[in-house]
Amino acid sequence: MTVTVYTAKIIHTMNPSQPVGQCVAIRDGRILGVGPIEQIRRFGDVTIDDRYADKVLVPGFVEGHSHALEGSVWNHLYLGYFDRRDPEGDRWQGLKTPEAVQKRLMEHIGQDDADTPLVAWGLDPIYFDDALIDRRLLDAVSQTRPIVVIHASLHVMFVNSATIARAGLNDMALEGIIRDEQGRPTGVLEEFAAMHPVFDALEFDIFEGASDVRALQRYAQAARREGVTTVTDLLNPMSDAAIDALREATAAPDFPVRLVPALNALAWDAQAGSERVQQAIAHNHERLHFGLVKLVTDGAIQNFTARLQWPGYLTGPENGVWNAPPQTFHDMVQQYHQAGLQLHIHTNGDEAVGMILDALDDALALWSRPDHRHTLQHVQLIHQDQLRRVVRLGACLNIFANHIYYWGDIHLSRTLGFDRCQRLEPAASADRMGIEFGIHCDAPVTPLSPLFTAWCATERETASGVTLGDAEKISRLRALQAITLGAAFTLRMDDRIGSLEAGKFADITVLRRST
Ligand SMILES: [Zn+2]
Repeated sequence: MTVTVYTAKIIHTMNPSQPVGQCVAIRDGRILGVGPIEQIRRFGDVTIDDRYADKVLVPGFVEGHSHALEGSVWNHLYLGYFDRRDPEGDRWQGLKTPEAVQKRLMEHIGQDDADTPLVAWGLDPIYFDDALIDRRLLDAVSQTRPIVVIHASLHVMFVNSATIARAGLNDMALEGIIRDEQGRPTGVLEEFAAMHPVFDALEFDIFEGASDVRALQRYAQAARREGVTTVTDLLNPMSDAAIDALREATAAPDFPVRLVPALNALAWDAQAGSERVQQAIAHNHERLHFGLVKLVTDGAIQNFTARLQWPGYLTGPENGVWNAPPQTFHDMVQQYHQAGLQLHIHTNGDEAVGMILDALDDALALWSRPDHRHTLQHVQLIHQDQLRRVVRLGACLNIFANHIYYWGDIHLSRTLGFDRCQRLEPAASADRMGIEFGIHCDAPVTPLSPLFTAWCATERETASGVTLGDAEKISRLRALQAITLGAAFTLRMDDRIGSLEAGKFADITVLRRST
């Protein structure tokens, strides 16, 4: 069997017993060893490959929270504030005013095809000083063709009157359908329950787009472009079609990443959902890893939909929304935990964190389970006392570091204020307490790029250049661990990825520059 040895300027292994090396030997897709060439030669005949001799090698990045939607959302029109690259690497210019948004929609509305909805994504009105984005702005683009604009957070949708009529929203009594003083829908739909009638009426579901082999390929391509070798799809429907697509895409030997889907638990009854995941695990192979269950409890802070403890939001509404009654989440945690599965739980606000810590406490009191690795996702506003509970419960965190850059300015001035911004995404505190954690991008919410995510965690700079919370900065090496071994741990895959150690997959990322 051929042994290939790659030489490097330096190899950061993330293996504490041997943190750095000069050569890595690979056989049959796995790491044979890291060490000086004369030691590696003891394995017998080796082929030396010097193409990375002046480069830095690190373990392949592990993106612990992103969505395959990144591969399908680009089928629709991008309306975000920041410049962004699509999976093919083409750059789309950010839109800085509501007028620019309207203009781009106008350019794409066309004259014909009046029945097909125009779907766009990436918009976040908070950057426009909260200029009202509602049905009137979209009606000015078209009165007849349905227009659907998905918010950058994916938790809110804006629709025009043609869509309101088609989906029958006027007479529908649902909490997230926002209405004006006359009781008419404004065209703003908050959270998934309110968005679903639109998906049903227009016969599309932006979240189902990921059940498509081509979308999965584009997603994998976008990940690989950023040095990611293992990527999650952290809210997969796990319908028959979705599972088939995942199996088909990853069956190709040249599929360029390992893919880790998590069941969207809110779409399933807990018993059926547990069985679904258990059955899917039988299909696991080197490039496909089922086993995770995802719960989404609250919304997003920048939309004022995350659930916050006192004193609530700095400006705007008092509190956010639950995606289901807290009792439902409590019961789901008990059921999936009892079934022996691993939960990944979206908790943005501190009230949501507290609710889930209570649920985990109850679950672990009833069914003790060491090394469960239940992971709280985002945890943007987690308190110090809650972090101590995370330690005691043996839970993991995946911290949304990119958020500081994209919404930090807004949090400082509008949603949270100075004090709570200091503890936003508290990676250093998690590190001090010995909590296992990853950091993530939540693509397509923010761009998929672990090196950028690591920069966010080390610099904590907002888009306008303000630093939020010096005390929560982590070192570059610690950030590198969070985008490799830390994330791998939260996926229960640290036995095979996340560091460069003998026996693990030879997933290696080459850094172009070493500084
Ligand atoms: Zn997400």
